[in-house]
Amino acid sequence: MKKIGLAIHGGAGTIRRSTMSRLLEKEYRKGLEKALKSGWNVLEKGGSSIDAVCESVISMENNPLFNAGKGSVFTHEGKNEMDAAIMNGVNLENGAVAGVTGIKNPILLAKCVMEKSEFSLLCGKGAEKFAKKNKLTFEPKEYFYTEKRWNQLQKAIKTGQAFLDHTNFEDIKKKEKYYGTVGAVALDSNGNLAAATSTGGMTNKMFGRIGDSPLNGIGNYADNNSLAISCTGSGEYFIKLTVAYRISALMTYKKMSLKKAADYVINKKLIEIGGDGGIIAIDKKGNIVLCFNSEGMYRGYVNEKEKFVGIY
Ligand code: ASP
Repeated sequence: MKKIGLAIHGGAGTIRRSTMSRLLEKEYRKGLEKALKSGWNVLEKGGSSIDAVCESVISMENNPLFNAGKGSVFTHEGKNEMDAAIMNGVNLENGAVAGVTGIKNPILLAKCVMEKSEFSLLCGKGAEKFAKKNKLTFEPKEYFYTEKRWNQLQKAIKTGQAFLDHTNFEDIKKKEKYYGTVGAVALDSNGNLAAATSTGGMTNKMFGRIGDSPLNGIGNYADNNSLAISCTGSGEYFIKLTVAYRISALMTYKKMSLKKAADYVINKKLIEIGGDGGIIAIDKKGNIVLCFNSEGMYRGYVNEKEKFVGIY
């Protein structure tokens, strides 16, 4: 059997041991372990990387701790508007949705766009119509309500700014930020790469704001010739740098290793323009990189040899 591997993230930011309760840390670790297991079960049985990344992302979309699906943050108007993207490294097929409400698992809708439409990206009402047509599961708005997120919105409204997830409002004064999005990348036993990303975006975001996550080559990308990658962080800066494709291009055209390319883009170029966050990626040989320039990133990986889950 060829090499297989899977990596996941649940958002990056100023995540510190000193401000995290032991109980909450345990919950996050449990959530990450569960997401890894969901994807690994698929890969281990010889399943495809596309199915594996989907399973891992669904697991985090269903977990209110993460800013995606059920745990999505609120927009300024008190809605949950979600973005998601998926890409298949075999044929560069991709599907994405932006600004969708009420869909239980936006990643499944992105997959549906990839497989059942001739388009790459559907947004808002049209995407929801497409979801109904394809019998995807919808949930009432109460399903997406979490007290923590609602309180975050109330605080954010007072400041008049939009914030990335996990924001500690004390830290805002110190200009420190927290992020939230979920993602998964995988290499399957056929040597195929895939990436999936899903997010509620930013707390208090204004109407129509779309981040980097559903944008192909920016927040999410997969190409069997280079890598599969999922990003999390200050979306607008990731868009300026076309982060995902930039790392892929450095590997393809400059023959850089995944580690070197990721380090250059995240720890040099992104910092230079004031952006923060991180990426998870896997290359065609199964090398895994979890790279971030923030204090922490909920993350993990698994392959035949080892399993790792980290936060700080
Ligand atoms: N990148 C996401 C966005 O800008 C948010 C995040 O990763 O925390 O929508």
